[in-house]
Amino acid sequence: MSLLPIMVRLLRTERTLHHSKFNYFSANMSSSPGKRLRVLVDMDGVIADFEGGFLKKFRARYPNEPYVTLEDRRGFWVSSQYGNLRNDLCEKAISIWESKDFFIELEPIPGGVQAVKEMAKMENTDVFICSSPIKHYKHCPYEKYAWIEKHLGSDFLELIVLTKDKTVVTGDILIDDKPDIFGVEPNPSWEHVLFTACHNKHVHPSLGQRRLQSWADDWRAILESRRL
Ligand SMILES: [Mg+2]
Repeated sequence: MSLLPIMVRLLRTERTLHHSKFNYFSANMSSSPGKRLRVLVDMDGVIADFEGGFLKKFRARYPNEPYVTLEDRRGFWVSSQYGNLRNDLCEKAISIWESKDFFIELEPIPGGVQAVKEMAKMENTDVFICSSPIKHYKHCPYEKYAWIEKHLGSDFLELIVLTKDKTVVTGDILIDDKPDIFGVEPNPSWEHVLFTACHNKHVHPSLGQRRLQSWADDWRAILESRRL
């Protein structure tokens, strides 16, 4: 048996390895200034319209019940505000997002999908979708994955972090509409940039907290400021 074909194959393998190594190093020694950035982007209220979807379905299922317009929304927890309106409305509100197809049918927040896609293409930038699923897990986690695939594409399925506690996730920036984000880590690595939503418009930002008013706002400038 001749050794020649084996040697040729070995040489080819060596060349491929060399090339992939070269590509790896050249990708990591890019000329882009500043450090590599990790951005965590929340889903509900940031790229998926939870509030709009909720109100539409609540009114359709309970047409004779009172409801809270988006203009009058106050406080992060929809169920608390509905419970304050009338006790039993808290449970009725919860029944909406615990229903099948609630999360998958949420409309994208204007500009969000495009911004996240652009962000992910930026040099030296890693983007993760960081979302807290509800405890009733029958539909929510599955539908969050399905939503991401539908709107952002299957590549993003590998960039999803589902957790109730975002403080344990490391990153440079967390774009999130929840005004107070606490967990077991007292000093999260990220800067929380508050994404403006109907429920937090009136909240006074904590000292030094930055906001992103919408996706039409200058999110690129916020990212670049963290790269310095
Ligand atoms: Mg949110």
